[in-house]
Amino acid sequence: MPPVKPAEMLIETATLELPDVKTLKFRWPEGYEPEFKTGHFITVYWPDTPTYKRAYSLSSCALDRGFFEVTVRREGKMGTRVVDWAKAGDKMVVGPPVGKFLPAFEPNKHLICIAGGSGITPFRGFAREAARRKLETKISVLYSVRTEKDIIFNSEFRQLENENPHFKFHVTCTRLAPEDPWEGRRGRIDACWIKEQITDLSNTIFYCCGPTSLVEGTDKLVVADMGVPKAQMVLEKWG
Ligand SMILES: Cc1cc2nc3c(=O)[nH]c(=O)nc-3n(C[C@H](O)[C@H](O)[C@H](O)COP(=O)(O)OP(=O)(O)OC[C@H]3O[C@@H](n4cnc5c(N)ncnc54)[C@H](O)[C@@H]3O)c2cc1C
Repeated sequence: MPPVKPAEMLIETATLELPDVKTLKFRWPEGYEPEFKTGHFITVYWPDTPTYKRAYSLSSCALDRGFFEVTVRREGKMGTRVVDWAKAGDKMVVGPPVGKFLPAFEPNKHLICIAGGSGITPFRGFAREAARRKLETKISVLYSVRTEKDIIFNSEFRQLENENPHFKFHVTCTRLAPEDPWEGRRGRIDACWIKEQITDLSNTIFYCCGPTSLVEGTDKLVVADMGVPKAQMVLEKWG
């Protein structure tokens, strides 16, 4: 299979997930048949600004053929342009999928996936692939958001939980007022909450993705504070 070159792709749909988060679905051009894995990221740019490129994790999975999806937060120059202006019918240039943030889909493994805000994007791909392949790999997502209005992909994750008995989607809200009616967990992701998910530490792999401060904080919490071997930690830093 020859290496895949950057290709101009049509934005087939541009879906506002939240007021500041948009998913772009890039239709592959004819003859484009990449080999790639769930958890890879792509680098994209606008045809009129070829020197300004940004990386985005695939929020779709490797079983989704014919298109890539990425989900972008409105932040900075590219993030703002995408969320405010990208629309169906536009074109962007998309580089080949690459990366090492790959789910260890083995039957006895438990993947504990820790995310805050837009760091959830690659975990939709993990959960989609596991559900469609009916895998026995346990996946627990621990997701921190300010309020329940900030949960990205809530309905798809709830649907995937219904389809896959090995998948759990846990949310904690950090900025609710005491009188807000949320019945789920409140407060930051801490060692206590992570430990509650672990049933067999030696077969558990921890994933964390997102802005550097969140990823480094989680790395410290899991490796330094909880004593988990570094080899069981997979990180994707965005900054
Ligand atoms: C492997 C990988 C995967 C990624 N996946 C995703 C993903 O799935 N979704 C996603 O949304 N992002 C993702 N990112 C981040 C993404 O690549 C960009 O970094 C992000 O969209 C911001 O780029 P930008 O050009 O818009 O920001 P820039 O304009 O370069 O700004 C960078 C940062 O500085 C801040 N900033 C800019 N100007 C100012 C200012 N004047 N004052 C204060 N702060 C300022 C911005 O808010 C931003 O946080 C990923 C990054 C990597 C490396």
